[in-house]
Amino acid sequence: MKKSVLVTNKLFEEVLNPLLNRFEVEVFQQDEPMPRDLFKERVEDKTGLIAMSVDRVDQEIFDIAQSLTVVSTVSVGVDHIDIETATKRGIMIANTPGVLTETTADLAFALMMTVARRIGEAERYTRSGKWKIPIYRRLLGTDVYRKTLGIIGFGRIGRAVARRAGGFGMKVLYYDIARADKAVESDLNAHLMPLDELLATADFVSLHVPLDKSTEKLIDQRRLALMKRSAFLINTSRGKVIDEIDLIKALKHKEIAGAGLDVFEREPCLPRELIEMENVVLTPHIGSASYETRKKMAELAVENCFLGLEGRRPRYLLNPEVWKEKGDKIS
Ligand code: NAD
Repeated sequence: MKKSVLVTNKLFEEVLNPLLNRFEVEVFQQDEPMPRDLFKERVEDKTGLIAMSVDRVDQEIFDIAQSLTVVSTVSVGVDHIDIETATKRGIMIANTPGVLTETTADLAFALMMTVARRIGEAERYTRSGKWKIPIYRRLLGTDVYRKTLGIIGFGRIGRAVARRAGGFGMKVLYYDIARADKAVESDLNAHLMPLDELLATADFVSLHVPLDKSTEKLIDQRRLALMKRSAFLINTSRGKVIDEIDLIKALKHKEIAGAGLDVFEREPCLPRELIEMENVVLTPHIGSASYETRKKMAELAVENCFLGLEGRRPRYLLNPEVWKEKGDKIS
């Protein structure tokens, strides 16, 4: 019997060819996330799964899908997958790092520019027909160039944001659990700083950590209170890295100047307070959403799944301990 794959999103048709030629492939054809009940029903007999970051691949799914050998996610973030359970059950988990780095860094920078220069507000104002007289003292924003940027999570995307900051003559501070090489620090002119100190110093704080136990609600009331009243918070990592209720309070009480947010605690539900605030810029989790990048992510996810099902090591395998066991069995 042919191995079978469930793909929870249409992706790009041509990208699926390697899988279609070799395996039975079932693709969820709608433009919306696959409903949970349908997901559970259709994954049951599959050997491979290509999932999106909105699909919760948890113990319940692993209990149902007893034949699953590889889960390939079309994302770099893997907080939606229970990797521990997968590893115990010998299921390979793979993701798509790197190919989305520059596109996500672009969005982080765009959010920073948009919130600082009040572009969202200005755009709404222009469309509203209220623009009757020259703009002198209205819609005054904050300069970005030569300001201090604090990057939390200095990995692939954090560093790509730092590269962009160089072009704006910004001073770059970073906080990470792992110090970057001296060469990287000097190349990006970036200075490591303890988290609380960075928060108190930066004019813009941009989050680029993965969501896990160590980063959940990393930015809470206490840390927001450390930020300057004139500072902006940018989040393109995961919504749960910020305590959203604390952020809303800080924004309401003008403890910080504004926020640019691409990710939220309970997507796609947004708190009404955020929607009604002028000093925030909100985007619907589009960090990697350029045509070119989404295509590369889909290709890589398909390749990871294909290799796993062929008994070869996926390019971006996150639980190599599973591979070692498989490798031992294969050799
Ligand atoms: P990466 O692994 O290259 O970088 C993450 C960095 O965070 C690493 O340097 C790591 O050491 C650091 N880190 C981990 N835990 C930390 C902690 N507790 N405190 C401080 N630093 C910590 O990952 P990346 O490719 O740069 O992606 C980062 C995250 O961005 C992803 O995990 C994903 O959740 C998110 N992302 C979002 C979008 C979007 O559409 N908005 C797109 C791509 C990625």
